[in-house]
Amino acid sequence: MMVSNTTGRVFLVGAGPGAVDLLTLRAARLLGEATAVVHDGLVSDAIMALVPASALRISVAKRRARHTLSQAAIGDLLVELALAGHAVVRLKGGDPFIFGRGGEEVDACAAAGVPVEVVPGISSAQGAGAATLMPLTHRDHASIVSFVAGECRGLAAQNWVGLAGPGRTLVIYMGLAGSEAIADKLIADGLTPDTPVAVIERATRHDQRLFRSLLADLSGLIARAGVPSPALIIVGAVARLGVADSEILTLAEAAPCPIS
Ligand code: SAH
Repeated sequence: MMVSNTTGRVFLVGAGPGAVDLLTLRAARLLGEATAVVHDGLVSDAIMALVPASALRISVAKRRARHTLSQAAIGDLLVELALAGHAVVRLKGGDPFIFGRGGEEVDACAAAGVPVEVVPGISSAQGAGAATLMPLTHRDHASIVSFVAGECRGLAAQNWVGLAGPGRTLVIYMGLAGSEAIADKLIADGLTPDTPVAVIERATRHDQRLFRSLLADLSGLIARAGVPSPALIIVGAVARLGVADSEILTLAEAAPCPIS
Protein backbone atom coordinates (compact mmCIF):
# COMPACT_ATOMS: atom_id res chain seq x y z
CA MET A 1 0.00 0.00 0.00
CA MET A 2 1.37 3.44 -0.86
CA VAL A 3 1.38 5.85 2.01
CA SER A 4 0.43 9.35 0.89
CA ASN A 5 0.24 11.11 4.24
CA THR A 6 2.33 9.99 7.14
CA THR A 7 1.33 12.58 9.73
CA GLY A 8 -1.03 11.80 12.57
CA ARG A 9 -0.39 8.14 12.00
CA VAL A 10 1.35 5.23 13.67
CA PHE A 11 3.52 2.76 11.80
CA LEU A 12 4.45 -0.41 13.62
CA VAL A 13 7.69 -1.19 11.86
CA GLY A 14 9.73 -4.38 12.07
CA ALA A 15 13.41 -3.55 12.42
CA GLY A 16 14.53 -7.08 11.60
CA PRO A 17 17.00 -9.07 13.66
CA GLY A 18 19.80 -6.51 13.82
CA ALA A 19 21.74 -5.94 10.62
CA VAL A 20 20.69 -2.61 9.16
CA ASP A 21 20.48 -3.93 5.59
CA LEU A 22 17.91 -6.51 6.62
CA LEU A 23 15.37 -3.71 6.98
CA THR A 24 12.70 -3.58 4.32
CA LEU A 25 12.78 -0.65 1.90
CA ARG A 26 9.46 0.47 3.35
CA ALA A 27 10.83 0.46 6.88
CA ALA A 28 13.86 2.49 5.80
CA ARG A 29 11.66 5.03 4.01
CA LEU A 30 9.31 5.46 6.96
CA LEU A 31 12.23 5.84 9.37
CA GLY A 32 13.60 8.61 7.15
CA GLU A 33 10.20 10.36 7.21
CA ALA A 34 9.44 9.89 10.90
CA THR A 35 8.98 12.85 13.21
CA ALA A 36 8.80 10.60 16.28
CA VAL A 37 10.32 7.16 16.81
CA VAL A 38 9.36 5.00 19.75
CA HIS A 39 11.78 2.12 19.94
CA ASP A 40 12.62 -0.77 22.17
CA GLY A 41 15.97 -2.10 23.32
CA LEU A 42 16.62 -4.52 20.48
CA VAL A 43 17.08 -1.87 17.77
CA SER A 44 20.67 -1.21 16.69
CA ASP A 45 22.33 2.19 16.52
CA ALA A 46 22.91 1.74 12.80
CA ILE A 47 19.17 1.53 12.25
CA MET A 48 18.48 4.50 14.53
CA ALA A 49 20.97 6.46 12.39
CA LEU A 50 18.36 6.45 9.58
CA VAL A 51 16.04 8.59 11.71
CA PRO A 52 16.21 12.36 11.01
CA ALA A 53 18.17 14.25 13.66
CA SER A 54 15.13 16.46 14.26
CA ALA A 55 12.82 13.54 15.14
CA LEU A 56 11.81 12.75 18.69
CA ARG A 57 13.39 9.50 19.89
CA ILE A 58 11.74 7.76 22.77
CA SER A 59 13.07 4.50 24.21
CA VAL A 60 10.63 2.13 25.84
CA ALA A 61 13.27 -0.56 26.28
CA LYS A 62 12.03 -3.70 27.92
CA ARG A 63 13.99 -5.73 30.39
CA ARG A 64 12.88 -9.05 31.73
CA ALA A 65 10.68 -8.48 34.77
CA ARG A 66 11.22 -4.73 34.51
CA HIS A 67 9.33 -2.72 31.95
CA THR A 68 10.25 0.92 31.67
CA LEU A 69 6.75 1.70 30.44
CA SER A 70 3.73 -0.54 30.81
CA GLN A 71 2.17 -1.81 27.60
CA ALA A 72 -0.87 0.41 28.23
CA ALA A 73 1.40 3.42 28.68
CA ILE A 74 3.15 2.64 25.38
CA GLY A 75 -0.23 2.53 23.64
CA ASP A 76 -1.17 5.87 25.22
CA LEU A 77 2.14 7.38 24.14
CA LEU A 78 1.68 6.31 20.50
CA VAL A 79 -1.84 7.72 20.44
CA GLU A 80 -0.76 10.98 22.05
CA LEU A 81 2.07 11.50 19.55
CA ALA A 82 -0.16 10.71 16.56
CA LEU A 83 -2.91 13.04 17.78
CA ALA A 84 -0.26 15.75 18.09
CA GLY A 85 0.33 15.31 14.35
CA HIS A 86 3.47 13.20 14.40
CA ALA A 87 4.44 10.60 11.86
CA VAL A 88 5.12 7.99 14.52
CA VAL A 89 7.29 4.99 13.84
CA ARG A 90 6.98 2.36 16.53
CA LEU A 91 10.13 0.39 15.84
CA LYS A 92 10.31 -3.18 17.05
CA GLY A 93 12.98 -5.85 16.78
CA GLY A 94 12.25 -8.58 14.24
CA ASP A 95 8.62 -8.62 13.17
CA PRO A 96 6.01 -6.59 15.09
CA PHE A 97 3.54 -9.48 15.11
CA ILE A 98 5.92 -12.21 16.29
CA PHE A 99 6.12 -11.87 20.07
CA GLY A 100 6.23 -8.12 19.57
CA ARG A 101 2.96 -7.08 21.21
CA GLY A 102 2.06 -5.45 17.91
CA GLY A 103 -1.54 -6.58 18.24
CA GLU A 104 -1.97 -4.69 21.49
CA GLU A 105 -0.58 -1.52 19.97
CA VAL A 106 -2.83 -1.83 16.92
CA ASP A 107 -5.78 -2.12 19.30
CA ALA A 108 -4.69 0.94 21.26
CA CYS A 109 -4.49 3.02 18.09
CA ALA A 110 -7.75 1.69 16.70
CA ALA A 111 -9.57 2.41 19.97
CA ALA A 112 -8.43 6.03 19.75
CA GLY A 113 -9.28 6.34 16.05
CA VAL A 114 -5.61 6.76 15.09
CA PRO A 115 -4.69 5.29 11.69
CA VAL A 116 -2.16 2.49 12.06
CA GLU A 117 -0.13 0.47 9.58
CA VAL A 118 2.15 -2.49 10.11
CA VAL A 119 5.39 -3.04 8.23
CA PRO A 120 6.63 -6.62 8.59
CA GLY A 121 10.21 -7.36 9.53
CA ILE A 122 12.47 -10.38 9.31
CA SER A 123 11.89 -12.22 12.52
CA SER A 124 14.94 -13.31 14.47
CA ALA A 125 14.15 -16.97 13.72
CA GLN A 126 14.55 -16.32 10.02
CA GLY A 127 17.59 -14.13 10.59
CA ALA A 128 19.21 -16.72 12.82
CA GLY A 129 18.62 -19.56 10.36
CA ALA A 130 20.07 -17.59 7.48
CA ALA A 131 23.04 -16.27 9.44
CA THR A 132 24.12 -19.74 10.54
CA LEU A 133 23.15 -21.59 7.34
CA MET A 134 20.68 -23.57 9.45
CA PRO A 135 17.49 -24.17 7.47
CA LEU A 136 14.44 -24.21 9.75
CA THR A 137 12.75 -26.65 7.40
CA HIS A 138 14.54 -29.21 5.27
CA ARG A 139 13.03 -32.09 3.33
CA ASP A 140 15.29 -34.56 5.11
CA HIS A 141 14.91 -33.17 8.62
CA ALA A 142 11.86 -31.04 9.35
CA SER A 143 8.62 -30.28 7.61
CA ILE A 144 7.04 -28.40 10.52
CA VAL A 145 8.40 -25.35 12.29
CA SER A 146 6.88 -23.75 15.37
CA PHE A 147 7.69 -20.52 17.17
CA VAL A 148 7.05 -20.43 20.93
CA ALA A 149 7.70 -17.96 23.72
CA GLY A 150 9.81 -19.55 26.45
CA GLU A 151 9.31 -16.97 29.16
CA CYS A 152 9.36 -18.50 32.61
CA ARG A 153 6.04 -17.04 33.63
CA GLY A 154 3.24 -19.23 32.38
CA LEU A 155 5.57 -21.81 30.87
CA ALA A 156 3.94 -24.70 32.70
CA ALA A 157 0.54 -23.70 31.33
CA GLN A 158 1.66 -23.75 27.70
CA ASN A 159 0.89 -26.86 25.70
CA TRP A 160 3.84 -27.64 23.43
CA VAL A 161 2.97 -31.30 22.92
CA GLY A 162 3.78 -32.32 19.36
CA LEU A 163 5.62 -29.11 18.48
CA ALA A 164 9.07 -30.66 18.85
CA GLY A 165 10.43 -34.07 17.94
CA PRO A 166 11.37 -36.03 14.83
CA GLY A 167 10.63 -34.09 11.65
CA ARG A 168 9.96 -30.86 13.52
CA THR A 169 11.82 -27.69 14.39
CA LEU A 170 10.94 -25.76 17.52
CA VAL A 171 12.21 -22.18 17.76
CA ILE A 172 12.06 -20.78 21.27
CA TYR A 173 12.11 -17.01 21.72
CA MET A 174 12.91 -15.53 25.15
CA GLY A 175 14.00 -18.92 26.45
CA LEU A 176 17.36 -18.25 28.10
CA ALA A 177 16.20 -17.67 31.66
CA GLY A 178 13.81 -20.59 31.59
CA SER A 179 16.05 -23.01 29.71
CA GLU A 180 16.19 -25.62 32.45
CA ALA A 181 12.41 -25.72 32.82
CA ILE A 182 12.09 -25.74 29.02
CA ALA A 183 14.33 -28.81 28.65
CA ASP A 184 12.47 -30.57 31.47
CA LYS A 185 9.15 -29.74 29.87
CA LEU A 186 10.21 -31.04 26.45
CA ILE A 187 11.63 -34.25 27.93
CA ALA A 188 8.43 -34.74 29.97
CA ASP A 189 6.51 -34.33 26.70
CA GLY A 190 8.47 -37.24 25.22
CA LEU A 191 11.56 -35.79 23.55
CA THR A 192 14.73 -37.78 23.98
CA PRO A 193 17.46 -36.06 26.02
CA ASP A 194 19.83 -36.37 23.06
CA THR A 195 17.69 -34.26 20.75
CA PRO A 196 19.99 -31.68 19.09
CA VAL A 197 19.71 -28.07 20.27
CA ALA A 198 21.33 -24.87 19.08
CA VAL A 199 21.52 -21.49 20.77
CA ILE A 200 22.01 -18.53 18.45
CA GLU A 201 22.94 -15.27 20.12
CA ARG A 202 22.69 -11.82 18.49
CA ALA A 203 21.86 -13.37 15.12
CA THR A 204 22.85 -11.33 12.04
CA ARG A 205 24.94 -8.92 14.13
CA HIS A 206 28.72 -8.76 13.72
CA ASP A 207 29.25 -10.43 17.10
CA GLN A 208 26.73 -13.24 16.67
CA ARG A 209 27.54 -16.59 18.27
CA LEU A 210 26.25 -20.13 17.77
CA PHE A 211 26.42 -22.90 20.34
CA ARG A 212 25.21 -26.46 20.02
CA SER A 213 24.54 -29.31 22.34
CA LEU A 214 21.88 -31.83 23.23
CA LEU A 215 18.59 -31.14 24.96
CA ALA A 216 19.68 -32.57 28.34
CA ASP A 217 22.57 -30.10 28.36
CA LEU A 218 20.63 -27.00 27.24
CA SER A 219 20.85 -25.01 30.47
CA GLY A 220 24.41 -26.23 31.09
CA LEU A 221 25.44 -24.99 27.66
CA ILE A 222 23.83 -21.60 28.22
CA ALA A 223 25.51 -21.26 31.61
CA ARG A 224 28.96 -22.33 30.36
CA ALA A 225 28.83 -20.08 27.33
CA GLY A 226 27.40 -17.18 29.33
CA VAL A 227 24.87 -16.43 26.62
CA PRO A 228 23.24 -13.01 27.08
CA SER A 229 19.91 -11.96 25.57
CA PRO A 230 18.89 -11.79 22.78
CA ALA A 231 19.23 -15.39 21.77
CA LEU A 232 17.06 -18.10 20.27
CA ILE A 233 16.96 -21.78 21.11
CA ILE A 234 16.41 -24.19 18.22
CA VAL A 235 15.35 -27.74 19.05
CA GLY A 236 15.35 -30.52 16.48
CA ALA A 237 17.44 -32.23 13.85
CA VAL A 238 18.15 -29.01 11.94
CA ALA A 239 20.13 -27.78 14.96
CA ARG A 240 22.93 -30.04 13.69
CA LEU A 241 23.00 -28.28 10.32
CA GLY A 242 24.72 -25.12 9.26
CA VAL A 243 28.14 -23.64 9.80
CA ALA A 244 30.86 -25.75 11.38
CA ASP A 245 28.82 -28.89 10.91
CA SER A 246 31.87 -31.00 11.70
CA GLU A 247 31.30 -30.27 15.38
CA ILE A 248 30.73 -33.34 17.45
CA LEU A 249 27.47 -33.28 19.34
CA THR A 250 28.14 -34.83 22.70
CA LEU A 251 27.15 -33.63 26.12
CA ALA A 252 30.77 -33.28 27.16
CA GLU A 253 32.04 -31.51 24.10
CA ALA A 254 29.43 -28.83 23.53
CA ALA A 255 31.61 -25.87 22.73
CA PRO A 256 31.17 -22.37 21.37
CA CYS A 257 31.44 -21.93 17.65
CA PRO A 258 32.06 -18.25 16.90
CA ILE A 259 30.68 -17.14 13.57
CA SER A 260 31.04 -13.79 11.90
N1 SAH B 1 9.58 -9.50 17.37
C1 SAH B 1 10.85 -10.15 17.59
C2 SAH B 1 10.87 -10.99 18.84
C3 SAH B 1 10.67 -10.19 20.11
S1 SAH B 1 10.79 -11.19 21.54
C4 SAH B 1 11.20 -11.00 16.36
O1 SAH B 1 10.36 -11.16 15.48
O2 SAH B 1 12.32 -11.50 16.29
C5 SAH B 1 12.49 -11.00 21.96
C6 SAH B 1 13.24 -12.28 21.70
O3 SAH B 1 13.55 -12.39 20.32
C7 SAH B 1 14.57 -12.37 22.40
O4 SAH B 1 14.42 -12.79 23.73
C8 SAH B 1 15.27 -13.42 21.55
O5 SAH B 1 14.79 -14.72 21.89
C9 SAH B 1 14.76 -13.10 20.16
N2 SAH B 1 15.69 -12.26 19.39
C10 SAH B 1 15.50 -11.01 18.97
N3 SAH B 1 16.55 -10.58 18.23
C11 SAH B 1 17.42 -11.61 18.19
C12 SAH B 1 18.69 -11.82 17.56
N4 SAH B 1 19.28 -10.86 16.84
N5 SAH B 1 19.29 -13.02 17.75
C13 SAH B 1 18.71 -14.01 18.44
N6 SAH B 1 17.51 -13.86 19.05
C14 SAH B 1 16.88 -12.69 18.93
